[in-house]
Amino acid sequence: MIYFDNAASTPVFDSVSEHMYLLQKEVFGNPSALHAFGRKARVEVERARALIAKKMNVQPAEIFFTSGGTEANNAILWGCAKDLNRKVFITSPTEHPCVLNTLESICKSLPVEVQFVDIDNMGQIDMSHLEFLLKNNKNAVVSLMHANNETGVLLPMNEVAPLCKENGALFHSDIVQTAGKYNLDFQSLGFDFAAVSAHKFHGPKGVGFMYVRSGSFFKPFITGGMQERKMRAGTENVVGISGMGKALYFALENMNDTIAYVSSIKERLLNLLKTEIPGAFVNGSPMEKSLYSLVNISLPKTYNSEMLLAKLDIEGIAVSTGSACNSGSGKGSHVLTAIGADPERPSVRVSFSRFNTIEEVDRFAEVLKGIGV
Ligand code: PLP
Repeated sequence: MIYFDNAASTPVFDSVSEHMYLLQKEVFGNPSALHAFGRKARVEVERARALIAKKMNVQPAEIFFTSGGTEANNAILWGCAKDLNRKVFITSPTEHPCVLNTLESICKSLPVEVQFVDIDNMGQIDMSHLEFLLKNNKNAVVSLMHANNETGVLLPMNEVAPLCKENGALFHSDIVQTAGKYNLDFQSLGFDFAAVSAHKFHGPKGVGFMYVRSGSFFKPFITGGMQERKMRAGTENVVGISGMGKALYFALENMNDTIAYVSSIKERLLNLLKTEIPGAFVNGSPMEKSLYSLVNISLPKTYNSEMLLAKLDIEGIAVSTGSACNSGSGKGSHVLTAIGADPERPSVRVSFSRFNTIEEVDRFAEVLKGIGV
C-alpha cells in the first residue's frame, strides 16, 4: 500500500502512539481536580503547552487547546466578530471550508462584511489588491492560510503581516498545513491568531490549538467550566494534548533533513511527470512557492475523472482527486475553480511525509501512466 494522502491526515508516530497508550492507562485523573491524580494530568497538559509555546516562540498563556483546526478557526473568527468588534473580514476564495463557511455564518448573524482578495492562476494572492482592500477597510481582520491544503501554495507571510499591521488589521492564519512541517517562529511571522491541528504532523486526531496573541483575547467560544483560562470550557483531552506535544517535538526534530528528503521525493515526481505523462502539469505554484510535501497534478482530459481514484485504490495507492467545478454545478473543488483550472481536466493531489520513499513515487508514476493509456 502506498499512502500519498498526508495532507488529509498522517500516520501517528510510533513513539507518540506508545506514549498515548501508557498515558491513557496511567493518567486518568481530571486535570481540574486538586488531588494527586488530577495534578498528574494537569502536569501533562501544561508540559505540552510549555513545549508548544517554546517551539513556536510564544508565551504558554497564548496557546489554547481545541478539538482541532476547525474549532480553532471557528473560535478565532467568531471571537474577532463578536468580542473584538471587527466589521470587515478579508479572506481568499481558496481558504479551507471551515474558514469560508464560518465567515458565511458570521455574516448571517452579525453586521459583518467579507471581502475576497483576488488570486492569480498560480494560486498566489494579489498583494496590490490586498493593500487596496486594507487601505479601504481600516481595522479589518485578514484571514489567509499559510499553505493551501489542495495546491500547497504558500502565502508570503513576510509581506502580508506588515501590511496588516500598517492598516490596523488583525491577522489570522490557518497554519494547519505548515505547523510541524517548518520551524515556525510566531513572533517573526507576525500574525495575531493561528489555527493548528495535530493529525497533520503525525499526532492524534481530534486535538489542536489556537494561538491568540495576548491583548487580543476574546470571550469563550464554548462556555462551561474554567478550563483553558475560561477561553474554552470542557475537560481537557489530556492524552491527545500530550500526544500532540510529543508529535510536534518529533516532527520538528531534524527539520532540515526532513525538508530535504521530502522535497527530493516531490522533485522526483515532478521530473517523472515531465517524461512519463505528457500534457500533465502542476496546479498552483512552482516548488519554491509551495509546500515541499504536496503536489497537485492536472492530468490530460483523456484521464477519466470518476475512475481515477478507484483505479489507483485498486493498485493500493491512496491519493486525493478532484477537478474544478463545472459552471453552475457547485460540485468539485472550490480551490481549483478559483485558480481557473479547466473543469474537464481531472486533478490528483499527492501529499507526502517522511515515511514515503522514492520507490513509491516511481511505482505511482508507472501506475498513473498506465491508467492514462
Ligand atoms: N484547515 C486546513 C488548511 C486543513 O487542511 C484542515 C484539515 O483538512 C483543517 C483546517 C481542519 O482541521 P481539523 O481536521 O483538525 O478540524
